[in-house]
Amino acid sequence: MSVLLTLNAGSSSIKFSVYPAGDGAALAHGQIERIGSDEGRIEFNHGNQQTRTDVGPVDHAGALNRILDEIGTHLKRSKIIAVGHRIVHGGPDFDAPQQLTPEVMTRLAEFEPLAPLHQPHNLAGVRAAMSAFPDALQIGCFDTAFHRHHPWVNDTFALPRKYYDQGVRRYGFHGLSYDFVTGRLAEIDHHAAHGRTVVAHLGNGASMCAILDGKSIGSTMGFSALDGLPMGTRSGQLDPGVLLYLMDHEGMDSTQITNLLYKESGLLGLSGLSNDMRTLQEAGTPESEQAIAYYTFRIRRELGAMAAILGGLDTLVFCGGIGEHSTRIRAEVCKGMEWLGIQLDPAANAMHLSVISTGRATVRVIPTDEEIVIARAVRAAL
Ligand code: ADP
Repeated sequence: MSVLLTLNAGSSSIKFSVYPAGDGAALAHGQIERIGSDEGRIEFNHGNQQTRTDVGPVDHAGALNRILDEIGTHLKRSKIIAVGHRIVHGGPDFDAPQQLTPEVMTRLAEFEPLAPLHQPHNLAGVRAAMSAFPDALQIGCFDTAFHRHHPWVNDTFALPRKYYDQGVRRYGFHGLSYDFVTGRLAEIDHHAAHGRTVVAHLGNGASMCAILDGKSIGSTMGFSALDGLPMGTRSGQLDPGVLLYLMDHEGMDSTQITNLLYKESGLLGLSGLSNDMRTLQEAGTPESEQAIAYYTFRIRRELGAMAAILGGLDTLVFCGGIGEHSTRIRAEVCKGMEWLGIQLDPAANAMHLSVISTGRATVRVIPTDEEIVIARAVRAAL
């Protein structure tokens, strides 16, 4: 059977799914975690079966080989004819999936300074797949692509123009998730799909997107995946003066600041306890409650800003691990938003129904699926 593989290669993990090349749902999915440590571990889900195996020290190429071994073991007779890659940055150029030719790879490597914590790992995953499957079609799907045609006022910073020209722009991320949600909305609510929508993707990373008639017109993430909402370990929006202070008065260099902003801030930094929302909700310490209060405050603030640029609100969608599962966070985001037409239905919210509101604006929960967006792009290319 001909199958396609989707890969989402991060700094210390590779997530994967296997789909029939023609049509249909995933045959298997899983991830290999702790790449680069001595304690790599692979999880493989196939039908109702889940296996977890320790794999010891492993790098990206070794991890991919290990994934292929598992696929070979569990899906005998499957032949991988194409690989779809999640790539965080398509730079100013790419507004749609691309075949990953050597020329495209060279261009994508030029965007590494724009996303130093993600892009090199994404491209390492592509190179590993190219050497494992020299004959397979390799397709790149970009998290920035969905936002590429947002208005100039949302694309730029108020810096001298030469920086815009050299790529210092607001790109926006989580585009595969927004693409999925937009498509799903078109299937379930034709009217809403052409209206004014805000999607809140609340996972370990978090962002929001203002979508008008199916197209991004604003997002909370900007030049990097740091901007906007506070996240598990990332700060979210910060006064640039704070960076000057850290450099001038704390003597911090860029490596230390990178570490602080990407790994030690957000929910973890504020709570001093955890980056994990479930843990914070259960902890109930004053600091974890403050972290949650800041988190929901920033989401409400951005929701108001997005409604302003949309000229109102027809639909609010929650997705991502927190958006999909946390009754409490959804309730706190919606609290006090009656002025926008939001009226939460507490019972529907507690039951995680797909529509959780009774007011003029519809509040929905849509489980996102970034892998299927990649699989669709690969199928289209095939
Ligand atoms: P990633 O961005 O890594 O894909 P997810 O979308 O899986 O992450 O989101 C992970 C977050 O979702 C974690 O903070 C986790 O605690 C949170 N989460 C998952 N389930 C629940 C729940 N039932 N209640 C609150 N938070 C939850």
